[in-house]
Amino acid sequence: MYTIQGYVKVKSLEEAYELNQKKSSAVIGGGMWLRLGSRAIGTAIDLSDLELDRIEETEDEFIIGCMTSLRNIECHEGLNRYFHGMMKNMLKGIVGTQFRNMATIGGSLYQRFGFSDPLTAFLALDTTVEMYAGGMIPLDEFVSMNYDRDILVRIHVKKDGRRAAYQSFRNTKTDFPVLAVGASRMADTWKVTIGARPARAVTAENSEKLSDRLAGDLPEEAVERVIREFASEVSEKVRFGSNMRAGGEYRRMLSEVLIYRAVRDILSQSEEQEM
Ligand SMILES: Cc1cc2nc3c(=O)[nH]c(=O)nc-3n(C[C@H](O)[C@H](O)[C@H](O)COP(=O)(O)OP(=O)(O)OC[C@H]3O[C@@H](n4cnc5c(N)ncnc54)[C@H](O)[C@@H]3O)c2cc1C
Repeated sequence: MYTIQGYVKVKSLEEAYELNQKKSSAVIGGGMWLRLGSRAIGTAIDLSDLELDRIEETEDEFIIGCMTSLRNIECHEGLNRYFHGMMKNMLKGIVGTQFRNMATIGGSLYQRFGFSDPLTAFLALDTTVEMYAGGMIPLDEFVSMNYDRDILVRIHVKKDGRRAAYQSFRNTKTDFPVLAVGASRMADTWKVTIGARPARAVTAENSEKLSDRLAGDLPEEAVERVIREFASEVSEKVRFGSNMRAGGEYRRMLSEVLIYRAVRDILSQSEEQEM
């Protein structure tokens, strides 16, 4: 159980940032992860007066405040319509509805957990994190940065016309994922991200290779072979580790299956669009 000595509901991000420079301070998101630890928190910083618990849709992007609950993202009509149900797929396995009503996207992405579903999924999209001091940082870069004492303010997800899909495998329905895969297709470029390896998510592929191989009027057996080969090649590039949930070799095999399913999902979205 954690303990808190002082509590400040801040009036500005500047105030939050200044308070957070002390090592004993902590920003409180949903508090769902923090409460499992035993930290002695000097000052708990509450951002809930800063109107950061909302999702805004503009012509070019979705802007998600750090205090937005996972549940609000999961149920957001605009995000799910644009990314073909990806938000729902990435979040539905996290514990339960009540939990997702509390946990925030700021707390989830800031921590960069190895098992993170949203980190893996947002990495497959064109996502930028807006940090108070650090400014706009592409998620691809943020994922491998060290922790500092900055504040994650919002995340920005581009509406760039990409098709996207998310797949995860869990030993039981609401356990941490054994493996997570995000995929997207932007024009001819396919991006594949792999998380819960069990290390932090990585971008395993970002190229036109798959589109080149699928070009022309291929018979279904050839399409099947090309996707399977692609899934296998991409999986070979990634290092998988072992933990209590699964061994590395099992994760590699799962990766091939989940990449295959994600690619199929995206191809069927494109077919639907053409009909
Ligand atoms: C039992 C359990 C099971 C889980 N299962 C899964 C799962 O299957 N898949 C998955 O992806 N996730 C899972 N999670 C993680 C969960 O979804 C959240 O990511 C986690 O609870 C953190 O979100 P929070 O809002 O509760 O953050 P908090 O606990 O409030 O904060 C977490 C950390 O982030 C910092 N922080 C919070 N907000 C900010 C901010 N805006 N800027 C800078 N720092 C900030 C805090 O200071 C703290 O260090 C699980 C968590 C638990 C407790």
